[in-house]
Amino acid sequence: VESRDSIEDIWGPRTTHAGVWPARVDERTVEEPERWVQSACVFCSTGCALDIGVREGRVVGVRGREVDRVNKGRLGPKGLYAWEGNWTRDRLTTPLIRRNGKLEPATWDEAMGRVVEKTKELKDRYGSGSIGFYNTGQLFLEEYYTLSIIGDAGIGTSHMDGNTRLCTATASLALIESFGTDGAPGTYDDFDVTDAFFLVGHNMASTQTVLWMRVLDRLNGPNRPRLVVVDPRRTVPARHADVHLAPRPGTNLPLLNALENLLIERGWIDPAWIDAHTVGFDALANAVRDWTPRRAAETTGIPAARIEQAAEIIGTSPTLVSTVLQGVYQSLQATASAVQVNNLHLLRGLIGKPGATVFQMNGQPTAQNTREAGANGELVAFRNWNNPHHIKELADHWNVEPDRIPSWTPPTHAMQMFRYAEEGSIRMLWILCTNPAVSLPELRRIRKILASDDLFVVVNDAFPTETTELADVVLPAATWAEKTGTFTNADRTVHLSLKAVDPPGEARSDLDILLDFARRMDFRDKYGGPLVKWVGPESAFEHWKGCSKGRPCDYSGLSYEQLEGGSGVQWPVREDSPNGTARLYTDGVFNTKADFCELYGHDLMTGAALSADEYRAADPNGRAILKAADWAPPPEWPDDDYPLMLTTGRVVYHFHTRTRTGRAPELQGAAPDVFVQLSDQDAASAGIADGDLVEVRSRRGLVVGPARIGGIDPGLVFIPFHYGSWDPHDGRREREDGGPTAANELTITGWDPVSKQPWFKYAAVAISRAGDGAANGAARAMNPDLEAEARR
Ligand code: SF4
Repeated sequence: VESRDSIEDIWGPRTTHAGVWPARVDERTVEEPERWVQSACVFCSTGCALDIGVREGRVVGVRGREVDRVNKGRLGPKGLYAWEGNWTRDRLTTPLIRRNGKLEPATWDEAMGRVVEKTKELKDRYGSGSIGFYNTGQLFLEEYYTLSIIGDAGIGTSHMDGNTRLCTATASLALIESFGTDGAPGTYDDFDVTDAFFLVGHNMASTQTVLWMRVLDRLNGPNRPRLVVVDPRRTVPARHADVHLAPRPGTNLPLLNALENLLIERGWIDPAWIDAHTVGFDALANAVRDWTPRRAAETTGIPAARIEQAAEIIGTSPTLVSTVLQGVYQSLQATASAVQVNNLHLLRGLIGKPGATVFQMNGQPTAQNTREAGANGELVAFRNWNNPHHIKELADHWNVEPDRIPSWTPPTHAMQMFRYAEEGSIRMLWILCTNPAVSLPELRRIRKILASDDLFVVVNDAFPTETTELADVVLPAATWAEKTGTFTNADRTVHLSLKAVDPPGEARSDLDILLDFARRMDFRDKYGGPLVKWVGPESAFEHWKGCSKGRPCDYSGLSYEQLEGGSGVQWPVREDSPNGTARLYTDGVFNTKADFCELYGHDLMTGAALSADEYRAADPNGRAILKAADWAPPPEWPDDDYPLMLTTGRVVYHFHTRTRTGRAPELQGAAPDVFVQLSDQDAASAGIADGDLVEVRSRRGLVVGPARIGGIDPGLVFIPFHYGSWDPHDGRREREDGGPTAANELTITGWDPVSKQPWFKYAAVAISRAGDGAANGAARAMNPDLEAEARR
């Protein structure tokens, strides 16, 4: 059964409405299932609920869950096709240990014994700070929570971060800086009733297809909302926009400052609401005053009249939903820019009301949970590392003394962890379900660090990747459908995903691997009992509920039983809100009280952290914070040697480094190869025709791929970042040196001063023709998202 060919028809038929989004059930099964098992999709933060079809112990298809509030039955191409990549011939089914330079099969006892022996040896000899954990946005809540207690109270290391540093670190920091804690203020239901959308650096049509269906149904239905899109490329949303703003890379902040200035100057603000519910207005007004449309036009390259048009929509629409993603988060001044989008809503009082919210969007499916559970540099349950009461509260819950939780230094962010590994102070890195050998910037450097004899690398993964190739121990992980747990999407909806089939071979869930590690390390609480008191997913969830109680992400009123059968539920779920909470801040009171907030905030320009005393001296005490920042010129400008700017991103058919989508035949077939997107003018000046092989060089590396000409402004080059050295579809290693198809060969080792998110969307590059694409066997150059749109 196939409800549609979602490769050809990405978003499916329209279901327009007058306020309540109708259901449309999407399904794809290759055999008749004997039973359906409840789950949700793990390929983006939309969090679409689905059922897994099972026959004779195998997954044979999926269908969207009609009862679920998030997707009402719909699924996009990754939801419908990616599951087929889970059970390929090359799945990791047995532990591997490196012996004499080669990874060889081992028993679990041997592999875990090796990991435990090394952990103890390094901890004794060099201290807890010699051990780091680098995790993912794809584990389940129960797994992150277990990882946190092991890292914090077991090992006692502050070196723990997720690859969410690469995608949603700025989302959480932007929320904290403005509203006091992490957590999306709004709900996807706001999409159904808003009068305007403002998409800032968010190619929703490619990255969150079901959310884009929800927007398309409004754009094609009655009471069409207006749409403003900020994107340097003419993406699908840009083509649907009333106003498309295409800033030069690195100039989001001047554009947003100019929009704020116009709102204030033209009186499109709500002074009474600002007065009652915010602090910082005067400083913000002063900071943006000089950003006239004309000055912003000179800096961003966007015509001044177009900036004014956008301001009028944003400033006069009765309601507004803004969404922000990687075009902001992975660019320069990421947090400073993301916060300005929050400011636009605060200036108009458009938050906490139906149709009025801002989504600092997540990228990965369970990114919200790594943040909640404290496996990414935040303290567990959005507590404050700098607040001794919060540390004590957590220590009490874990039955440990407060000084066992490493709060004497800020948590180490991922880019710094790799620096420490390079310098030799981190001597063991445990990498869980992520592929930094493709996804981190400046890959030549990252490969060298991971391959170093001085670094002991443990990797949990379901498949061989460019990173497992460099590991000392590989632990075969069970994946989605093979384990039970919960995860939470970008509008705080918690879903339960049940085990549908057994993992292949000896693969184990990450939770089982971590519990086994905790047992073997014999971690104890202060009374001599086991530190980790749970034995499986549901008991971990029950423990987490207590830990989250009283915090913004309060799960205390939720249970597996409640999550089974019906729709997912939005946290907080407390005794007084047993069915969850659609919107936060409906009373205009924010989480900024000094005793409650998650951090004391930062200077957005320098990243300098405010002290507790500084924050308390001007305690916002429940008011949102309007924070300003001025533009800082980029660190690398185009010059004679590198005259163009590179931006990287995604295509609709792939997720991250294609570890799974590259193994799903339809998805890999739809987007088999890297491409280099160029403007007509730049291609013509370099003598490059569509499909020709192009060599792209930066100061750090080289990428070669076929040209795709058009859809992008002169001066800009786009390369999707999915394509590493490995072809996961057939396990073929393309080049010994790990290149040259990975966009991150070219990117810069640099990061936002506040969120520490790397700059993936900013690097100066040069292009030249490298040959005839067809003659060199290159896959046809394509930009599949736009081609699918053109076919419709
Ligand atoms: S929109 Fe995201 S969660 Fe939904 S089916 Fe697509 S990839 Fe999965």
